[in-house]
Amino acid sequence: MQGRKVIITGVPGVGKTTVVNEALKKLKSEGVEYQSINFGSFMFEVAKKENVVQDRDQMRTLDRAVQKQLQQHAAQAIAKVTGNVLIDTHASVKTPKGYLAGLPEWVLHEIMPDIIVLVETDDDQILMRRLTDETRARDKEGSRSIAEHQQFNRSIAAAYAMMTGCTIKIVINADFLLERSSSELADVLR
Ligand code: AMP
Ligand code: MG
Repeated sequence: MQGRKVIITGVPGVGKTTVVNEALKKLKSEGVEYQSINFGSFMFEVAKKENVVQDRDQMRTLDRAVQKQLQQHAAQAIAKVTGNVLIDTHASVKTPKGYLAGLPEWVLHEIMPDIIVLVETDDDQILMRRLTDETRARDKEGSRSIAEHQQFNRSIAAAYAMMTGCTIKIVINADFLLERSSSELADVLR
C-alpha cells in the first residue's frame, strides 16, 4: 500500500510538536508507524549551510524570494520520503511583508497530502504558551493578531483542499487536554 501523507499545521506555540509526539507514541504501541518530518528543519539545514541565518526563527524574516527557494528545496527533499509520513509545518508563515503561504501550489504538488490537520486553540492560551517557552524566539504579538493568523490559516487551508482534494481536520489542543487532542490526531492517522 502506498504511504499516507499527512501535513500538520498550527500557529507557532499552539503545541503541534507535543500533540504529534503523543499521538505517535499511541500509534507505535499499536504497530502503526509514521515517519515524523519537520519542514522547517529541512529549510534550516540549507539556510545554515548557506550562512543566511543562525537560528530557525530568523528564517521568516528573510527576503521572500530566499524563503521560497528554501521552501521549494525542502518540499522536493520531503517528497522523496516513502511510507507513512507526518509533516510538521505551517499553513502560513507570518513575515514582515505579510502572510506567506506555507503550502503554495509548487509545494502541494510535490507532496500531495491526503490530510491537512490544523491544530488550534484559544488565542490567549497561545499567547501564554509563547511567553513561557524559552527555547524559541517566538513572535511577540497580542491575542488579536494571533486570532487573525488562526483565521487566515483556516481560509488558506480551504484553498489547499481545493487544489489537492485532501481533507482538512481541525484538532483543538486546549490547556490540560493533551490526551484528547492527541487521541483525535491518532484517529486521523490510523
Ligand atoms: P517551526 O519549527 O515549525 O516553527 O518552523 C521554523 C521556521 O521554518 C518557520 O518559522 C518558518 O520560517 C519556516 N517554515 C516551516 N515550514 C514552512 C513552510 N511550509 N513554508 C515556509 N516556511 C516554513
Ligand atoms: Mg514545532
